[in-house]
Amino acid sequence: MPKIGSLERFDDVSLYFHIPFCSRKCPYCHFFVVPDHDQFKTPFLLALKQEWALRHVHLKGKRVVSIYFGGGTPTKLAPWIISELLDQIARTCDLASDCEITLEANPEDITLDKMRLYKAAGINRLSIGVQSLVDEELQILSRQHTAEEAIRAIHASHQAGLDNLSIDLMYELPTQRLASWEKSLTFLSSLPITHLSLYNLTIEPHTGFFKRRHQLEKTLPPDEEKLAMLHAAVTCLEAIGLERYEISAFSRPGRHSRHNCGYWLGRPFLGLGPSAFSYWDKKRFSNHAHLHQYQEILSRGDLPLGFEENLPFPKNLQELFAIHIRLCEGVDLELFEQRHGIVPSEILTSLKTLQQKKWVEEQSGMWKLTELGRLFYDSVATELI
Ligand code: SF4
Repeated sequence: MPKIGSLERFDDVSLYFHIPFCSRKCPYCHFFVVPDHDQFKTPFLLALKQEWALRHVHLKGKRVVSIYFGGGTPTKLAPWIISELLDQIARTCDLASDCEITLEANPEDITLDKMRLYKAAGINRLSIGVQSLVDEELQILSRQHTAEEAIRAIHASHQAGLDNLSIDLMYELPTQRLASWEKSLTFLSSLPITHLSLYNLTIEPHTGFFKRRHQLEKTLPPDEEKLAMLHAAVTCLEAIGLERYEISAFSRPGRHSRHNCGYWLGRPFLGLGPSAFSYWDKKRFSNHAHLHQYQEILSRGDLPLGFEENLPFPKNLQELFAIHIRLCEGVDLELFEQRHGIVPSEILTSLKTLQQKKWVEEQSGMWKLTELGRLFYDSVATELI
């Protein structure tokens, strides 16, 4: 299997669409979402088209290799709307013939008929927010589906022909213990999934959990159990053929997320929709995380930028390197230089320090995290940046 990084072309880019509608806000969620009211959708779609009209000119001479509809809950937009958006993209820019087009979905919104329509609209990859396959844990997360419904949704999606299927699972949850985590893991071998993203719960400001954090923190699993949960997941996933290709991502061979790999490799991407982030022309910027403001600025013909950052050298490359090394295959220094420019001495010095701590290792020009380095990734990133 060729290295993920070696498959990139210099003109490859990605697109992200933030669809902010949700039936209700999950208490751990820190993404920008708004209630799923029909009257919000027409002005939102008008603004999204206005944003596309302003942005698509930047795609001239570029090849779009992945499109990701995230949120929020993008399935709150009917399949025909997604189809129209994709038609508009295809008319105005160069889509790779094997462009990966992902739709995020929640189990309670998935039916066989609906998924057939999304597939006909052009979706070829689904990312399902399963989070847990234990009902008590789903209740703690205030999810709107049961474990059984999640399993049924995965099979229905597969039956609809969406055979590139990813699920999200969360661990380190309040009251969760190793035994219940293992219960979720045991279901996986029977599911037709090609990819899994593993998240440990982090209690973020401005969330329902944050307000209750003092009470919740008392019920979190102890540190040694958190570690055992991670080990159990890695062992189980690798045993069923889902290879760990990034610190928290697992896939069948060749089924890694092309879109997410773009983030790790520093591939330019444009994010559209309120709160969406972009990395373009070596700059990072994001849209206002406010639906009305986003729409109002676009209606005047302006870009709805809320934040912009142009990191100076060498900070820019240090950040790119710290993200890239999350890939298990590591960083090929030569390819990194070809793509981003000369590797600054600060990175080389940090790599030597990290090598002494046995957090990174070097093999034939590839620098990668060791097992220990993956565990202490936050400290590795701090050293590199
Ligand atoms: S469904 Fe997803 S995006 Fe919406 S509130 Fe829940 S976690 Fe956040």
